[in-house]
Amino acid sequence: MPTTLILGAGLAGLTAARELTRQGHTVLIFDKGRGVGGRLATRRIADGRADHGAQYFSARSPEFAALTQEMQHAGVVSNWHVEQSDPASFQHPRFVGTDGMSSIAKYLATDVHVQTGKRAVAVKQVPQGWAVTFDDGQTIAADSLLVTLPAPQALALWQESGLELDPSEKAILNAIHYQPCLAVLLQLSQPSNVPTPGGLKLPADSPVSWVADNQQKGISPAVPTVTLHASHSYSQQHLDDTDLKALLPELVAAAAAYVSSETVIDQQIHRWRYSNATERYSEPFLAASTPAPLLFGGDGFGQGNVEGAFLSGLAMAKAIADGASA
Ligand SMILES: Cc1cc2nc3c(=O)[nH]c(=O)nc-3n(C[C@H](O)[C@H](O)[C@H](O)COP(=O)(O)OP(=O)(O)OC[C@H]3O[C@@H](n4cnc5c(N)ncnc54)[C@H](O)[C@@H]3O)c2cc1C
Repeated sequence: MPTTLILGAGLAGLTAARELTRQGHTVLIFDKGRGVGGRLATRRIADGRADHGAQYFSARSPEFAALTQEMQHAGVVSNWHVEQSDPASFQHPRFVGTDGMSSIAKYLATDVHVQTGKRAVAVKQVPQGWAVTFDDGQTIAADSLLVTLPAPQALALWQESGLELDPSEKAILNAIHYQPCLAVLLQLSQPSNVPTPGGLKLPADSPVSWVADNQQKGISPAVPTVTLHASHSYSQQHLDDTDLKALLPELVAAAAAYVSSETVIDQQIHRWRYSNATERYSEPFLAASTPAPLLFGGDGFGQGNVEGAFLSGLAMAKAIADGASA
């Protein structure tokens, strides 16, 4: 059975790895992060927990609805009735990871051979297919390669490897764009004033676009923590600031109706250079015209967001499985 190497253990990579592993393929998946999940990210802040990447998801396709139901039964995913806060903009049920969004990735990684803390630094075509070298010096070869990094990072890896993509394929990757997002995590000495059910979009002119109470959300039951997402324009404007912490007073003040600054006992700010893919390739993945299978996927392909990343991973797995059995 041919081997597949997957770069990126976010939702797209893990979905592809899980599906191929289930079908008996040999799959190796690597991520530069300390844990799995990528933008399905949950952090500890002091004794509490906060989701600082994706906040919730919906499941409209039968495939993702089935996985969501499976995860609900396993206690990994719960409903978050965030539509109560804004029925006009939430038209589908929303789900969250019961212990935070990263628990979804941990669940999917259970039966998958994944290694974290390994950054791919070079890719090479070899007679077998592909060889990837990691930042610890190890090189691993496989028949097929799936790349689920955000498109600008995939392009940078290709450039650093001295590899050329077909110009039309390179143009497709170049056209994929992501919004940045600055995320603030706060631990509070007392519960926030975010109204039930704990998630709120703020007006477009505010430096903060989203406020989430992780205690009400259920992922930090004993310790009040809040996540703030800076607006797209604010995040873009301050993306390359060297001292992000200097932005904290302004961002906390913008959410003053929901969080009193006197109650803040710990705070962090995180830079997401790539948050939501706003310009995407219409198909769920791109198959490069290389001698050995090479697929690019992730939320920059297809419908975007959490569900789009899942569907991209699933479609990549199907393509590899179909190719392998052809
Ligand atoms: C702040 C924020 C808020 C969001 N809110 C929502 C939301 O509420 N709802 C929603 O549906 N979506 C939301 N999203 C988007 C959602 O998180 C993503 O669409 C989805 O998680 C993307 O999954 P992915 O697998 O495509 O990519 P990723 O999760 O980014 O996975 C790619 C992985 O590649 C790894 N990687 C990168 N370079 C290398 C390398 N050289 N070597 C090895 N590994 C590498 C990264 O560490 C990462 O784990 C949000 C995202 C952010 C950041």
